[in-house]
Amino acid sequence: MTINIDEMASFCKRKGFIYPTAEIYGGLAGFFDYGPYGSEMKMNLKNVWWKYHVRSRSDIVGIDGPIITNPTIWKASGHAENFADLMLKSEDGSFEVRADLFLEEKLGKSFDGVSADEVNKLVAEHKLTAPNGKKFKKCESFNLMFTTNVGPKENDKSKAYLRPETAQLMFADFKLVQENARMKLPFGIAQMGRAFRNEISPRNFIFRCREFEQMEIEYFKHPDYDECPFYKEYEDFELNVYSIEHQKKNKEADKMKIKDAVKKGIMQEWHAYFLALELNWFKSLGCNMKNFRVRQHLKDELAHYSTDCWDLEYNFPFGYKELEGIADRGNYDLSRHIEFSKTDLSMFDEEQKKKIVPHVIAEPSLGVDRAFLVFLYEAYNDDKKRGNIVLHLHPKIAPITVAVLPLVKNKEPVTNKAKEVFKLLQDDYSAFYDESGSIGRRYARMDEIGTPYCITIDFDTLEDDTVTIRNRDTTEQKRVKISELKKELII
Ligand code: ATP
Repeated sequence: MTINIDEMASFCKRKGFIYPTAEIYGGLAGFFDYGPYGSEMKMNLKNVWWKYHVRSRSDIVGIDGPIITNPTIWKASGHAENFADLMLKSEDGSFEVRADLFLEEKLGKSFDGVSADEVNKLVAEHKLTAPNGKKFKKCESFNLMFTTNVGPKENDKSKAYLRPETAQLMFADFKLVQENARMKLPFGIAQMGRAFRNEISPRNFIFRCREFEQMEIEYFKHPDYDECPFYKEYEDFELNVYSIEHQKKNKEADKMKIKDAVKKGIMQEWHAYFLALELNWFKSLGCNMKNFRVRQHLKDELAHYSTDCWDLEYNFPFGYKELEGIADRGNYDLSRHIEFSKTDLSMFDEEQKKKIVPHVIAEPSLGVDRAFLVFLYEAYNDDKKRGNIVLHLHPKIAPITVAVLPLVKNKEPVTNKAKEVFKLLQDDYSAFYDESGSIGRRYARMDEIGTPYCITIDFDTLEDDTVTIRNRDTTEQKRVKISELKKELII
């Protein structure tokens, strides 16, 4: 049995992972502070993502742009005008809620992409009211972009936006990146960092915040060639597929290999590849694939320029929800930036001897905070036998990799030796030194924040230079030479 989202929020606060922001002043809805262990884990998560998606591949390179950029970007992308959600407001103005989420909660199915007219109809048909019984006004649209001013004067010209996604600079910088890094199609540009959305109803802890982080890739291909050169690597990878047909027929997702999904025409090779690649990232970090599914967007959810979009969904305690979106965006973005900037962002195809505007065949867009929550849920185990919570985090993302614990704290030779071991490990691992409390209590504290290895230094260490390593998952202890330690601490 798992814990609900409020219990998870309380666990995270108690254990130093995440706090409501500036809680001493009453916090601020939709904003969170990552504590000592949360900030370490988040940094690890981002580093592992970057290594998997950028450093270990030759076809994806990164950029790192600012949160505030030239505001025309958001006009070209359509965000300034259209990045909005539908909102329901009670007649007395005391209650505001995002319309599609409210309908989903009340009527038990997804209303992604619902129109204002449909919302008004459904509210009337089901006699829906605000929690205080007041009727709703007509549904209205609310732009989610946070605005600010650049420079000392506040006027129309100084108005700028906090980015609502990290994407867009990958398009604006497309030509420079392609030329500087000498990229050939197909190739991708990645970026990660903060994004801001003035969400109408932030809720479910870090699942829906107003400030969050994203890790995104724009992956470009030649408009005339559809073959994915990496597809074979993953063709036997299994996905829980929840296609348009499944949704229309009210069927559960079906487990199938990506090659079968492609053969049946449910998805194209490129999409299948990216879904498998992205799921495999979670799998490689210890996640159980039975808790994930891939959901195809219904035709009326798709943006007009997009031919297909799939979400990676996770079975949270509050239901299957989007963790990552993977959209095919055609040449919409580059074409819009060409039009608005009047700059040529096309590439010259030597074979065809003509200019082409590449297509974004996939835009994997993953929220760091949502991924963080998934890793916590996957790792969380209230171990009744041990009498404490154990976070079975993968060593690559655990906030502390190894704790160094002298068995006693009042015998200097033992504590000095322990400090020596700590120093030896500090450069290569996220190491932690702790001499306070009983050894059982110290093990339990480390279990609760997911530390995979605890090293104990005792009187025998002084004699033979050996220590014990305790494995978090099995609690087994192994005696090893200090000189062999790094071979044993596998990350
Ligand atoms: P939702 O439908 O849940 O609002 P979205 O479809 O608007 O999400 P995208 O624009 O596709 O989300 O953003 C890509 C990813 O960024 C999401 O899959 C999610 O992981 C993350 N994300 C988006 N909005 C938020 C938010 N308010 N808080 C935390 N993460 C978010």
